[in-house]
Amino acid sequence: MYEEIKQAIRDIPDFPQKGILFKDITTALKDKRCFRQIIDAFCDVLQSESIDKIAAIESRGYLIGAPLAYKLGCGLVLLRKPGKLPAATIKEYYDLEYGKAALEVHQDAISAGERILVVDDLLATGGTAEAACKLIKRLKGEIAAMAFLIELSDLGGAEKLRPHAKTISLLKY
Ligand code: AMP
Repeated sequence: MYEEIKQAIRDIPDFPQKGILFKDITTALKDKRCFRQIIDAFCDVLQSESIDKIAAIESRGYLIGAPLAYKLGCGLVLLRKPGKLPAATIKEYYDLEYGKAALEVHQDAISAGERILVVDDLLATGGTAEAACKLIKRLKGEIAAMAFLIELSDLGGAEKLRPHAKTISLLKY
């Protein structure tokens, strides 16, 4: 399924460091047909879910999260790298497939009981999405699901995220 989207994603070996096979989605996004297919495919899969807000992970998560929030008719929350958000934030640190990082969210971005869909381009080890879940839970939001364009299945991200909520991946490698 979604063969055309899969074909449009480019593999870049040894980026950003040796041993990482980087999944470059810019080649899929620049194709108007393919970009539309990606967003429409997410809509099809997610339309039966009850979602108040999408929490999109900086930066490639925004490219999917923003048009999806528009189409699903829900709000958009930005999970950002440290020091970018202007108002009061909370922060979670995590390990990345290639390094260490942290995510922040505005303290008033989510209200208690709101159902949140976490969106990112790619699920690898699951550290980034888990940090997103922890931020949302600290704000008393409920994780409705986590949605990814790509899942690198061998890295065990879906397993790691299972205690938080279900994961939905359009393309599995
Ligand atoms: P992880 O926390 O290990 O699940 O890593 C997921 C995050 O890192 C996502 O925001 C991805 O954009 C990025 N990422 C990790 N591995 C790759 C990869 N092989 N290709 C492209 N992006 C990646």
